[in-house]
Amino acid sequence: MTPQTKASPRPLKPSVSPEMNGGSELNPWHQAMSQLDHAGALMKMEQPVLERLRHCKRILEVSVPVRMDDGTTRVFEGYRIQHNLDRGPAKGGIRYHPQVSVDEVKALAFWMTMKCAVVNLPYGGAKGGVICDPKTMSKTELERLTRRYTSEISIIIGPDKDIPAPDVNTNEQIMGWMMDTYSMTIGYSAPGVVTGKPVDIGGSLGRREATGLGVFYVTRELAKARGFDLKGAPVAIQGFGNVGSNAAKAFHERGAKVVGVSDVTGGIYNEKGLDVDDLLAYAASNHGISGYRKAQAVPVESFVEVPCQILVPAAMENTITSKNAHKVQARYIIEGANGPTTIEADKILAQKGVVIVPDILANAGGVTVSYFEWVQDIQAYFWSEKDVFAKLQDILVLAFKQVHDMSVKKSVDLRMGAFMVGLERLAQAVRLRGMFP
Ligand code: GLU
Repeated sequence: MTPQTKASPRPLKPSVSPEMNGGSELNPWHQAMSQLDHAGALMKMEQPVLERLRHCKRILEVSVPVRMDDGTTRVFEGYRIQHNLDRGPAKGGIRYHPQVSVDEVKALAFWMTMKCAVVNLPYGGAKGGVICDPKTMSKTELERLTRRYTSEISIIIGPDKDIPAPDVNTNEQIMGWMMDTYSMTIGYSAPGVVTGKPVDIGGSLGRREATGLGVFYVTRELAKARGFDLKGAPVAIQGFGNVGSNAAKAFHERGAKVVGVSDVTGGIYNEKGLDVDDLLAYAASNHGISGYRKAQAVPVESFVEVPCQILVPAAMENTITSKNAHKVQARYIIEGANGPTTIEADKILAQKGVVIVPDILANAGGVTVSYFEWVQDIQAYFWSEKDVFAKLQDILVLAFKQVHDMSVKKSVDLRMGAFMVGLERLAQAVRLRGMFP
């Protein structure tokens, strides 16, 4: 045997970096990798697959110079990170927030890979972000920031490559500017380059409501599986942005009782139930829910501790941690946000018997309708809202069933059930494609 053909020693276990298991509770990438480790070990996943998923495929860091309204120039830091492309083009939102960091965007990109696999969309995972505080910026500054950021990341995005979408603090208008900037650069309209656009320029009906509605659909499936009634069930929703407000509407309109809502300005609670339409109108004209009279005020910091049966964290990561998990009164947590519950909190909640529908299933309605939008753009053939919602429902009902069945079969919680469903699909793609060269 020549040295070249000699079999190299094959480590049987994935390499575990020191920060895994016992890494920082509040570092999303450490948390995400611990989840992957755990699922990989439960599934006895082979080392080559796990090792590859432990790394992001591409990390692009960009400087985004912006001419501010006062004539000065500020340079913002931005990222676009593609975690994995084995199942298709990369997909995932863009976040504008002062706390954006590389590790956060890496974790969010990884969770997108998992999420798309759990609901079986032909996508890999990506995420982007710009470190900025959009609340302190004018509309024209935001437009210049968006256009320059888009231009900087245009070397890796495209309808066949990587398709951004809205996330925290980004919206339809921002997606419209991104689509326009990309299209201007290539010389023709490419609506399929981003999803979550305004309907008039290639957006999909139902995309705005999709994530919140999806949260409701999976809760309804959970209620069926666990035998509880959603009629009149007290629901508290932390976060009143696109996801939280549309989830609140969906629960309210379908007979559940929304008893509490919070946003960055404050929290409110009324055990008799809130009139969600009235609250939405109030929040729109008062820049938030703080000061709403028909409920009692609750501090934002302790909002997740309010009495309720169903809690929907729908804002950011690290909302439920080892510090407050033991104070949660809800019986069910439906993760509208990405990464709202830390692993330490997961353990405490499991001991209390709290059931969690994980982010990679619970909030997958958004990316599912993003997928529909992309398909409609590519075909230049648009669907009715009824069709969008019917297809969304089909996908989420099936995904919930597959995750639930897996969790029962393997005696694991729904988070690990979802990881096992997603990871198996992903691993199969990695195996079938093999490794280049
Ligand atoms: N930002 C959303 C998420 O975290 C949507 C992503 C998309 O539609 O591509 O799932």
